[in-house]
Amino acid sequence: MNKLEKLNQKIRKCKKCLLWRFRKNTVPGEGPVNAKIMIIGQAPGAEEDKTGRPFIGRAGKFLNQLLKIAGIKREKVFITSPIKCFPPKNRKPTKEEIKNCLPYLKKQIEIINPRKIILLGEVAFSLFFPKEKLNNFRGKIIKKDGKIFFPTYHPAAGLRFPKIKRILEKDFRHISVF
Ligand code: URA
Ligand code: SF4
Repeated sequence: MNKLEKLNQKIRKCKKCLLWRFRKNTVPGEGPVNAKIMIIGQAPGAEEDKTGRPFIGRAGKFLNQLLKIAGIKREKVFITSPIKCFPPKNRKPTKEEIKNCLPYLKKQIEIINPRKIILLGEVAFSLFFPKEKLNNFRGKIIKKDGKIFFPTYHPAAGLRFPKIKRILEKDFRHISVF
């Protein structure tokens, strides 16, 4: 069993926060262990909870379109989120839940060691840049700790607001050269 599978087993059994009570499946993330790019979202939604796979609902379909714009093959990136269980009613995860779950994401970053990390939305952005505002850094390339970060909005926000959708499309055109 490889390191990622071992970690997934641990996540599957996790009861560190109350979200375990509501989940059908954990959603640890998916992609190759040697992925050069990692994408970090917010938390699984209902579709993801049903299947255990990340970004397969409406936001996931939009993410697929964005990846196409960027010329990135989905199979080549590791896609995950800081929260591995579905927050009921799709609410935003709490600070406490994020804190409890974060060691799994950190371990994934350690195992995969991606060179580039795409951060989708404020929750993912704040993990790496807690003192900054996403709006000041969105669409920009940031180098930190030997990695290249590219923060942008969450695709779910793009589905709600046409203006954000256009910005996401522009950002992913930019990502194709990062
Ligand atoms: N949004 C996320 O952040 N992650 C998913 O897996 C699905 C929707
Ligand atoms: Fe464990 Fe994370 Fe699920 Fe909470 S959200 S039960 S910390 S895997």
